[in-house]
This record gives sequence, structure tokens and C-alpha cells, in this order.
Amino acid sequence: MIYKEREDWLNVILNSLPDHVFILDQQGRYIESFGGTNHSKSFNAASYTNLYLDDVLSSSKASELLSYIDDVIASNEPKVIKYSIALQDHLLMPIEELESLENPEESWFEAIIKPVNNATSNSNLVIWSVRDITKTHLLEVRLKQLSETDELTGVLNRRAFQINLDKALSKHSTQPKTLSCIMIDIDHFKEINDQVGHFSGDQVINHVAKICQKAIRGSDFIGRLGGEEFAVILSNTSAIQAYDVAERIRQAIENAPCCIDGIEINATVSIGVAEYDKQISTTKELMIRADKAMYYSKHAGRNQVTLHHDGIPDVKIQHSSNLKIQRVS
Ligand code: GH3
Ligand code: MG
Ligand code: MG
Repeated sequence: MIYKEREDWLNVILNSLPDHVFILDQQGRYIESFGGTNHSKSFNAASYTNLYLDDVLSSSKASELLSYIDDVIASNEPKVIKYSIALQDHLLMPIEELESLENPEESWFEAIIKPVNNATSNSNLVIWSVRDITKTHLLEVRLKQLSETDELTGVLNRRAFQINLDKALSKHSTQPKTLSCIMIDIDHFKEINDQVGHFSGDQVINHVAKICQKAIRGSDFIGRLGGEEFAVILSNTSAIQAYDVAERIRQAIENAPCCIDGIEINATVSIGVAEYDKQISTTKELMIRADKAMYYSKHAGRNQVTLHHDGIPDVKIQHSSNLKIQRVS
């Protein structure tokens, strides 16, 4: 069909828009809706006309969205926002519509909100053009997770650990609290690899990571820095408290042999502990201190924890071992 009138064309185009386009007033009332052809057919946006945001959404979500409208009207500038709507935020959405969502627990949206300078009335209005970005958002989250996670153990990889540590220390500069670093290295790991093979060696690394992870709080974090070395950052924790955590980790690893295919591997770890204090200005210095203390634990016989202090000597490591690996079945 060929439309003669410009108005007919506008109607067709507006209603064919892939994104939903809503006109909302400053009180969060839906004045008009257009488009949304890329969204599910069962969702009827027109039914929202004359309803308010808090008729449609939970009051906390409605007030969040209302605050964006206020910002746009106050600044008279467009705004691009990203927001989520959880299952419990939907007050009116029909169940079949909720079930058809990409991720019903939480949908993600990107909206461009523009002020409308409405010459015919005094009311302040905005155009709210919105698209469902749940699929892309979930993919981004997954990719971020993959880029931050050590594939073998599931703890942070070295890069993500460093980023988290930098963040923790910049927070520390505004709210100084104690913060400690624990450096952990599996003892005689080359020998473990030599005796049970690289694959079983990997299982031992994983086993140690799980024990360390279990020993720390949600506010702490652990990273695999390389091969069989881990570092832990404990927030609001003094060196003495960190020493206790490190000692618990050491004992837990000593007392939990790793069993792989009928072979029991009694791994142990050497640990160094250092506290972030006024003498330290970089994350590197903190890690060097914890590392130096860890090397002292190696030098002093392994399977022990050393607290960093200024008098720790630089040491050479001896590699003879009394590693225990035995067949149990
Ligand atoms: P020490 O008690 O002094 O720490 O002795 P060590 O044998 O553990 O010495 P070191 O820490 O230097 O050895 C690390 C070894 O870990 C060297 C390398 O062959 C092995 N390794 C590094 N990455 C991996 C890995 O991803 N998997 C396995 N199975 N082994 C690894
Ligand atoms: Mg090592
Ligand atoms: Mg080692």
C-alpha cells in the first residue's frame, strides 16, 4: 500500500519501530507508546497508557526510573541509561510474557531518554526509547567472568587479582584500615609433577585453591599468580590476624591430602604474610614483602608461615625434600 499523506507514513513508521518508544510525563505517567516490533507480540504497551510507573513496576524500581526523568527534565539534556528489571519488579506483566523473556529473573534494558519541548502544553514530557539488551548483557557478564577467572581453579587470574588489589588500595587511601597480603606457594611442586604427572599436579593446585578459598571471607579475595602460587588479600585485617588465617590455611592443607586415582598426595605450602603500612606506597611493594616472607618460610624448612619484618634476610632456597606421596588402594 502506498500512503499519500505524510501523517499516514508517520503512523506506519512509528508503529513499526523495533524499539519501544514511550512518552512519559514528569510524574511517570505513560502518555503514549509506539513501536516495539522487536519485542514480544504478546506484550501490549498501549495498555500502559495513563498508568504510572509505580502502577507497572515496584515502587523502588519506579522511583529509580522517575529519577532519570527528573534528571533529563532538569538538565534539558538527553541521557542514555542501562537498567535491570527483576521478576519481582513487574507488577502487571502477564505470566506468559514473563515466561517468554530471555532471562525472566532479571531483564536488562538500554534507554535513551530525551526531553520533549512541548509547545502546546506546560507539562514536561520525555521520550523514552528502550530496547531489551538482556542477551548482550549476559554475554558481557560471561566474557568478563571468563577474562577474570583462572580456568583451572576458578579463582581470580593474575590480572584480575592485580586490578582488585589496586582498587582495594585506592579505597584504603580514602578510608585507611588495616589490610594484609598472604602469599602461598606449594612446596616441592616440581617433584609432585614428576611423581604423579602434570595432570594430577593440576588437581593438587585446584585442591589447594579450594581450601584457601574456603578459609577466607566474602570481602577478601584470592588470585592465582602463576603455576602453584596464590595470593590472598584480607581487608580490615592486621598482620597478626592475617598470620592466624595463614596458619589455618597451612594446617588445613597439611591435614587434607589430595586423593587422585587411589594416590594420596600430602601437599604442604609455605606462606608469607605482610601488612600494608605507611612505609609501603605501591601494591608491588606489599607483594614483594609477602613474597620475601614466603621465601623465608621455604628457607626455614617449608610448611610454615612467616610474618614479614624489616630484619628478614634474603635467602637461598634448598630443594631436597621429604614429600609424602603414597598409593592407598
Ligand atoms: P618450592 O618448594 O621451592 O616451591 O619447590 P617447587 O618445586 O614447588 O618450585 P617452584 O615453586 O619453583 O616450582 C613450580 C613448578 O610448578 C614448576 C612448573 O613445572 C610447575 N607448574 C607451573 N604451572 C603449572 C601448572 O599449571 N600445572 C602443573 N601441574 N604444574 C605447573
Ligand atoms: Mg612457585
Ligand atoms: Mg613451589
